[in-house]
Amino acid sequence: MAQAPQQDTRADLVTCPHCGKRNRLRAAAAGLARCGSCRGMLPWLTDATDDDFDAVVVQSSLPVLLDLWAPWCGPCRMVAPGVERAALEFAGRLKVVKVNVDDSPETAMRYRAQSIPLLLMLKGGEVTARQLGAIPPGPLLQWVESALPPAK
Ligand SMILES: [Zn+2]
Repeated sequence: MAQAPQQDTRADLVTCPHCGKRNRLRAAAAGLARCGSCRGMLPWLTDATDDDFDAVVVQSSLPVLLDLWAPWCGPCRMVAPGVERAALEFAGRLKVVKVNVDDSPETAMRYRAQSIPLLLMLKGGEVTARQLGAIPPGPLLQWVESALPPAK
């Protein structure tokens, strides 16, 4: 009998900012990211590739902040701290996903990432807002806030 296809078991270890418990968070998990101990919202920052982009990004029920970057890209390093802060500040409202465009040419083509850093807000894989080029953390967070549905 053929083996079932390997399920996505890739997970990130995330320390809960509320209680300090370390959680294993699957990149392709459905719904919200909650702490298994205190049920607080976890910051959700993960990676995707062409192979799991659909599962991690397109099927996400949360809006996704997509960071298209590459290791050789200096301005991408300037954007990274703001992207990490966005995951913390908008925990429960946003999933943050980084894609290395060198490793994921299909995703780079799909979103026309000829020039990076390119930040995209996505819902169901569709672009709802776009931010091209280096941006400091403060304006980056404002841009994310303006692109997100209002907090409940
Ligand atoms: Zn917790």
